Amino acid sequence: MDNLENVFCHPTRRDVLRWGLACGAAGALGRAPAATAQDTAGVTELAGPKLKGLARHEALFWDRLPDNRVKCRLCPRECEVADVERGYCGVRENQGGRYQTLVYGALCSANVDPIEKKPLFHYQPGTNAFSIATAGCNIECKFCQNWQISQFRPEQVESVLVTPEQLVAACRSRGVPTLAYTYSEPVVFYEYMHDAAEAGRRQGIGSVMISNGYIQEKPLRQLCRHLTGVKIDFKGFSETFYAEQCHGELKPVMATLETLRDIGIWFELVILVIPTLNDSPDEIRQMARWVVKHLGPDVPMHFTRFHPTYRMTNLPATPVATLDQCRTIAMNEGVHYVYAGNVPLHPGENTYCHGCREELIRRVGFRVASNRIRDGKCPKCGARIPGVWSQEQALAFRPQEPPATQSAPTHSGSASPQANRSPGGVSGSARAVS
Ligand code: SF4
Repeated sequence: MDNLENVFCHPTRRDVLRWGLACGAAGALGRAPAATAQDTAGVTELAGPKLKGLARHEALFWDRLPDNRVKCRLCPRECEVADVERGYCGVRENQGGRYQTLVYGALCSANVDPIEKKPLFHYQPGTNAFSIATAGCNIECKFCQNWQISQFRPEQVESVLVTPEQLVAACRSRGVPTLAYTYSEPVVFYEYMHDAAEAGRRQGIGSVMISNGYIQEKPLRQLCRHLTGVKIDFKGFSETFYAEQCHGELKPVMATLETLRDIGIWFELVILVIPTLNDSPDEIRQMARWVVKHLGPDVPMHFTRFHPTYRMTNLPATPVATLDQCRTIAMNEGVHYVYAGNVPLHPGENTYCHGCREELIRRVGFRVASNRIRDGKCPKCGARIPGVWSQEQALAFRPQEPPATQSAPTHSGSASPQANRSPGGVSGSARAVS
């Protein structure tokens, strides 16, 4: 099978040419290019043959409406979907008044990655995460690095069927402590992620969600009973940026971050800094100020370098000086752990004690060259370093109890009903998939 790893991260000229050819050939057939399941981890040995058709499974978090319509309550879009139609994400379908996910177990990407690649820098540094994805996303960022799977429907990508139990078995047989739901948008394969995380916990495997944070509070709280860490892409700090560049909204993401804070799960933030669009010092300052005030100074912020891709090839890569400026602003606002990302060998990839500035973790790209943290503390001044430093600590996490919620006729499986956040203002109608 093709390895799309390079395509997902920083496409080489050869990758771009290859995809150009694929697009051309597919275009001649009148359909989108099929992405292929990655196999650098050898995972397909665990699965059956390539998936033909759709991996249907009853969806969680939706309401029945008149005339066989349904309303999805998983993410802030709250799509209202007619019979045999799909929601905006293209992976949830109404069949006769019952809502279904179409990607339960439909793995289109799998790799064993360093946890640093997610990036999570305060979560068991130097360990690996079994990283998986299905097709689909609930927003559309013009700068998406994984558009070949996130912006396609499940029948447009090549997938294999892998059960949650097989994922857990793959981790255990390889000695990998963590499952990571990543690459596309795991919120849209919620049911699969939920069941894999639950099965993983039962067998000593942690789970981290790498997400845009576009999810309603109720499903997030239910999911966090099984997760052990989260990374959220905080894409900008203005509604204009979210609307124009991502076809989404900022407010629901801020609400998600506050919910994660309340739950008490470990999480980190990544800000992809794009020249002229979200890199103004004032916007970065406002964002860092909000993070300190609402989430606390110990939530790490990663300012990462943009590379031209997808529908945003007109802008240059982010100057390293801009990342340096973002780091300085955030540190001046009181954020304790601020990183520079996608810049190998930059000193901003290392972890320094916020108490005495001692270097604690040295990173070379995604590799941990040294880690001097002992029992979660700085060996020099003894300051506690926030994070998850062992598998025992990861699995010991239990969320704070959620506040009482109202009841309503939402189909939420084992979950109690009613999403308790007001709907987002973005249209919930299905989109055309390119
Ligand atoms: S875009 Fe969001 S609300 Fe719409 S179907 Fe997908 S998950 Fe549900």
